[in-house]
Amino acid sequence: MSAAWRYFKISEKEARIAICKTCSADISRGGVTAKTFTTSGLLHHLKSKHPDKYAEYDQITSAQKKKVLPSTPTPSVADLFEKVARKYLSAPCTSTDSERLFSAASHVLDEKRNRLMADKAEKLLFIKKNLPLFLNK
Ligand SMILES: [Zn+2]
Repeated sequence: MSAAWRYFKISEKEARIAICKTCSADISRGGVTAKTFTTSGLLHHLKSKHPDKYAEYDQITSAQKKKVLPSTPTPSVADLFEKVARKYLSAPCTSTDSERLFSAASHVLDEKRNRLMADKAEKLLFIKKNLPLFLNK
């Protein structure tokens, strides 16, 4: 809504007429239907008859134009953690990796190593899966 309506009100008798709140003059709103109404006639009246009010109106509209659109917010640390967590902590959509691990476990824990304790087996599996990564680097 235009700031011009601080200084005018719509006539109760006729919608296409605006009434000046300062001098009660009837001013045409321009068009015939609501879609064609404008505030230019009202502003012309304000500028020519009430320069002080027009200066006030001008200040209000220029202040409204200066308002900067809100920029996109900087992502918080929590947002970044959420992104990383979604990528690395989500359940994989295939069972390939776990199947490979079971297969590797069967190579480490075979019939000849049936007395191998769980912690040692875990360490051997870790080395079996991660040593190639380390050596290829
Ligand atoms: Zn007036």
